[in-house]
Amino acid sequence: MKFLSCFRRPLEDPERPLLNDGYQAGCVFCTVSKDNGFAVEYEDEELIVFRDRWPRALEHLLVIPRRHTVSTVHELTAADIPFIERMAARARSLRPGNDVKLGFHIPPMSSVHHLHMHVLVPPFTLLGKVQYPVRMGEDGGKKWTWFVTPSQVVSILENGGTIGLKARAGKKA
Ligand SMILES: [Zn+2]
Ligand SMILES: [Zn+2]
Repeated sequence: MKFLSCFRRPLEDPERPLLNDGYQAGCVFCTVSKDNGFAVEYEDEELIVFRDRWPRALEHLLVIPRRHTVSTVHELTAADIPFIERMAARARSLRPGNDVKLGFHIPPMSSVHHLHMHVLVPPFTLLGKVQYPVRMGEDGGKKWTWFVTPSQVVSILENGGTIGLKARAGKKA
């Protein structure tokens, strides 16, 4: 699947064209910092992890790339797999439980267009029970739904697919 990298630069590529030096005017997630009042739990050069202001579960964190290189999962390609795996690994190291749910909303269901991964520690609130529906498909992919786990993202991209609402199991779909 390496050929896909020709069409898009990976999230982590410092040469990837950035909007406003990696920050997009008007994007709330481009302003995430302790100084701006966000409950930041972890940060490094590429990732920031902070608490969602409207938790849909006992604990609800968001993992975002520091730089606004990708708006939604629609734009991801196979070149982004290592970055997605690092986002998931960071989430799992912060909240290691087996019942912790990780995933991304799929447009038009994503409210903020700055790539962000939800980390949900049950029990869920009433809204939380309906907003993050995981539906497993063939080959580790998904069926029709507006939420996708990092492992589904990786398997769909590995199979040459793109992330959308529809079921995608790579080229066959
Ligand atoms: Zn942003
Ligand atoms: Zn979301």
